[in-house]
Amino acid sequence: MMTQRHPRKLSSRTEAFRAKLEEANSLEEIQRLCLLHVDEVSELSQFESRIRQPQLLREIANLKDDGVSRLVRTFVSFPQEPEANYITLRNQLREIWSGSTRTPLLLNSWLMRQPSMKATQREIIEFYSYSYPPFICSLRDRKLIPNPGSLRAALVQAVLDRYDYLRICQNRACPAPYFVANRKDQKMCDNADCKAEAQRQFALDYWKREGHKQRLSAKRKKTRTQEQSRKFKNRRNTTKE
Ligand SMILES: [Zn+2]
Repeated sequence: MMTQRHPRKLSSRTEAFRAKLEEANSLEEIQRLCLLHVDEVSELSQFESRIRQPQLLREIANLKDDGVSRLVRTFVSFPQEPEANYITLRNQLREIWSGSTRTPLLLNSWLMRQPSMKATQREIIEFYSYSYPPFICSLRDRKLIPNPGSLRAALVQAVLDRYDYLRICQNRACPAPYFVANRKDQKMCDNADCKAEAQRQFALDYWKREGHKQRLSAKRKKTRTQEQSRKFKNRRNTTKE
């Protein structure tokens, strides 16, 4: 049987495993379950990281200079890095988002990353224990999958999976303009103000395209009718005389 590239649903075995995890009362029990269900852990972690891709992309691309600690708290599964690294990642991701020709270069540079010379002992140990190599072999799926601890591998996978849907919101006042579209023709993000702006824009475009045409033809019709009745009156007056 062919496996889907990105299955939309979990297999029944992994659904059952997830239910067991939700019922577990202690970390020890969760660890025991995970050790017993290697395939299910792999399927579940891939499934969940795919669901979180739009959020990961959005949060990094829209990252404010003072927003790093919030970002780190949101994505606790990735080892923490120096603040400057996140700002660099944000700038590179924005470049990719804008369709830069350097995109392949940037994506590959993320995969080649090693700890910097200034990294602490803890950072080096964390890097090699959790996030290196960035992609690992999955025998179950017969393919390479992102190492769950590697932020850059998650980003590479997310960019490859969502590249055609990376958009910049056209509402100039948008507070977080980098978004992942649901449809290829979506121009504004899902923020309520931007949606309202999109509706106003649609109304305006519609008016320019259709409404104007309709009013023009109605006006012409009216003028024609007035003209005809004027001629008719004139004719009657001439007959009376
Ligand atoms: Zn927006």
